[in-house]
Amino acid sequence: MGNMVEVSVNASRIKQSEIRIMSVECERVRGVNLAQGVCDTEVPEPVRCAATAAVEAGLNQYTRLDGILALRSAISKKLRENNGLVVDPETELLVTSGATGGFFAACMAMLDAGDEVILFEPCYGYHAHTLTAMNCKPVFVRLNAPDWKFSAEDVERVITPRTKAIIVNSPANPSGKVMSRAELGWLAEIAVQHDLLVITDEIYEYFLYDGHEHISIATLPGMAERTITISGFSKTFSITGWRIGYAACPARWKTSIGYFHDLTYICAPAPFQHGAAAGLNELPKKFYEDLRLEYLHKRNLICSALSQAGLKPSIPQGAYYVLADTSALSGKNSKEKAMYLLQETGVAAVPGNAFYHDGAGENLLRFCFAKKLNDLENACNRLQRLRAHATV
Ligand code: PLP
Repeated sequence: MGNMVEVSVNASRIKQSEIRIMSVECERVRGVNLAQGVCDTEVPEPVRCAATAAVEAGLNQYTRLDGILALRSAISKKLRENNGLVVDPETELLVTSGATGGFFAACMAMLDAGDEVILFEPCYGYHAHTLTAMNCKPVFVRLNAPDWKFSAEDVERVITPRTKAIIVNSPANPSGKVMSRAELGWLAEIAVQHDLLVITDEIYEYFLYDGHEHISIATLPGMAERTITISGFSKTFSITGWRIGYAACPARWKTSIGYFHDLTYICAPAPFQHGAAAGLNELPKKFYEDLRLEYLHKRNLICSALSQAGLKPSIPQGAYYVLADTSALSGKNSKEKAMYLLQETGVAAVPGNAFYHDGAGENLLRFCFAKKLNDLENACNRLQRLRAHATV
């Protein structure tokens, strides 16, 4: 008999992320990778030192499934002081293996096959693909450049008796949209009226520009009891490989979310939990302000380089990505445009259609500016090669 065993039906519906594909291509041509959201900036000293000290001290074993108390307490304090959220570190908080682990476990615990879940598009692929992997149905509300606004009616229109949840991601990957208080208020009213769950991914909460304010939707009236607030330290402390995040939720859900997280991850990495706790406890307010200013500078650099190269950026309000209109580039679709850009300049970006379910975004490319300044400046210079080119 030949090889008859095939992957599951489920697996055959999931495809490899375009982001990883572009990273591989970029490495092949030794280009500058603005495709992947890896912040290769320095890890803050207290975070690094506490993690190293934890390894040396032998804190290398499984922790409690919801994480060490020191980290849960530090997160609870941060949520109270920065987000205005009151979360009991014992019963309402779970340390997770990155925001990704938190999102996965939350979806496993809360959603059933066939549930419809509302997402905003352009959308972070992991959110949509996680839902698909669980046989839920992602339902998209389309936002349009350059300001990515929506109305309450846009959301009301897609609600059906099967709608179970809304996914919020503000500041958003890839658009950089920061939801306003009014927009979050509409979502909150809709969630209460239709008895919906809200899962909010706030991983970019410290990356805010031009006076935009981060509001945790769980602080709005009636929302604490129906919201799972997910965030983490990958981006803020530049530790994407450490896998430390958290989920804050009503106590009645914590056991189930914790159970599913345990099944996949057992716990978040022990020494790195100590590192994150030290970061929260020891880094001053100035750290977060400096972070914001550093990324603001980087945002301005990449946006002006894109404009000068003839690619029209939608100026992000938060997070660290720019979607640019690349209609001027050669190529029938965004994949071809990304490959063309890589060939001509050595700069890798993500094809825009990776952020849409229906083939939209073919004129868009996403550029990540979470890069060391040197690398970003190098990328900005390389982009200027396009100016000399006939098609731009
Ligand atoms: N959520 C969003 C919206 C992201 O863009 C990313 C990374 O790109 C993540 C979550 C991943 O976070 P973590 O490393 O904490 O799993």
